[in-house]
Amino acid sequence: MSDAPRVALTFDVEFADRPTHAVATPAILDALEAAGVRSTMFLQGRWAEAEPVVARRIAQDGHVIGNHSHHHARMTMLTGAGITRDVRAADAAIEAATGASPRPWFRCPFGAGARTLRVVRRLADAGYVDVAWHVDPGDWTGVSAKVLRRRVVDSIGPDTRRPSEAGSPDRADDTRAPLGGVLFADVARWAW
Ligand SMILES: [Zn+2]
Repeated sequence: MSDAPRVALTFDVEFADRPTHAVATPAILDALEAAGVRSTMFLQGRWAEAEPVVARRIAQDGHVIGNHSHHHARMTMLTGAGITRDVRAADAAIEAATGASPRPWFRCPFGAGARTLRVVRRLADAGYVDVAWHVDPGDWTGVSAKVLRRRVVDSIGPDTRRPSEAGSPDRADDTRAPLGGVLFADVARWAW
């Protein structure tokens, strides 16, 4: 393994809490495909149920599939049994939609519970390990493409994982612009 910088691009694909454009996730997939970059996409179970065609394309495009819970509730707000139920429901929904198992990759909604022992243990019992991130570019907050690009590229270093909210589609244009442009040119050299 070389010492060159490497970056893992990750996206959370979920129902946004604001009005959405159905084309957003496919647009991001198009940009990734054009750049020849594969990412890891953490799917919300309910989203995968509602968007099976897009969900299947994510797997067919060669992206790694992860589990982003079923209801996108904070794991810390659920009982132990509730965590297991939610994770398993998402597991089944994601595999049914994509044809791929999301195990062992899980991303806690909001990152809540990633360092909480009872949550981590429940995830482990269900065959999962939480995957956090190092750089949150905040694309879901409506920052411009220019700011988004700077945040990501300037933050890249060893062991950087980049999350993005592919399910916040009203930000799709801002997200897609750097994805299809300079950002991927920069990142693709390091992606694997
Ligand atoms: Zn999320």
